[in-house]
Amino acid sequence: MASTSSSIHWPPIEGVISDLDGVVYRGGTAIADAIDAFTRWQKAGVPFCFVTNNSTHTPADVVRKLAGFGLAIAPSQVVTSAITAAELVRSNYPQLTKVYVIGAPSLVTAMRDIGLEITDRSPEVVVMGLDRDITHEKMRIAVEAILNGAVFIGTNPDLLLPTASGFEPGAGATIAAIAAATQVQPSIVGKPHVPMIETALSRLGTNRASTIMIGDQVPTDIQAGKKAGLATVLVRTGVPMRRDPSLMDPDFVVATLRDIEVSADRAARPQQRRA
Ligand SMILES: [Mg+2]
Repeated sequence: MASTSSSIHWPPIEGVISDLDGVVYRGGTAIADAIDAFTRWQKAGVPFCFVTNNSTHTPADVVRKLAGFGLAIAPSQVVTSAITAAELVRSNYPQLTKVYVIGAPSLVTAMRDIGLEITDRSPEVVVMGLDRDITHEKMRIAVEAILNGAVFIGTNPDLLLPTASGFEPGAGATIAAIAAATQVQPSIVGKPHVPMIETALSRLGTNRASTIMIGDQVPTDIQAGKKAGLATVLVRTGVPMRRDPSLMDPDFVVATLRDIEVSADRAARPQQRRA
């Protein structure tokens, strides 16, 4: 099992990729230790980037929310699954330009911002995220396009989302419906898959070996970080941790982000190796 915070010998940490909900805030409430830690890392010049499976918020939405908690960041420091889906179309299918989107306005914006045409007429790509106004007609258009050979991309695999009163279906549930109808499996960009982590890494420009992935969920954050080859840190401020033998364990477990020691904290000291 992972080391606990008191006994951790931190590897060199020169870049940080982090989840948001359950790590930096819980719903509308800031997690003070996390805001303090990111503020300290910002002052120390340690680059960081936030990654979120949520495709219904733009980076600007996240920037505003964090500013309200006293942490000032740039939009480029936020990578959403919507942004990653757009970048995946651009990098993997540069010849394709016509996209049909089932999703929130932020997903449409992400596609438009990189110059893609949004259309329901012979689309070459279908991108699906959480759409609270999904209809049978939208699903019919997506199914027809995919059966005609359109590339199928999903933002995130989350099946259930917590609400104030219980749960609602997540993007993964409706993506699964289209996959079942077409028998075509989508490329999913969100955690636990790696594309969003790779997008964040390229933004940071840091070395994989000295960049950590912080999250509160083993099935998504930690698996994505491990698959991308990063050292992973589970912070126990979010959902309770359940051991699942089929999942990779985090490299480190901390009670709070205060326990993480980045390289800038000990620049004058010789580097220690991870235990
Ligand atoms: Mg989380």
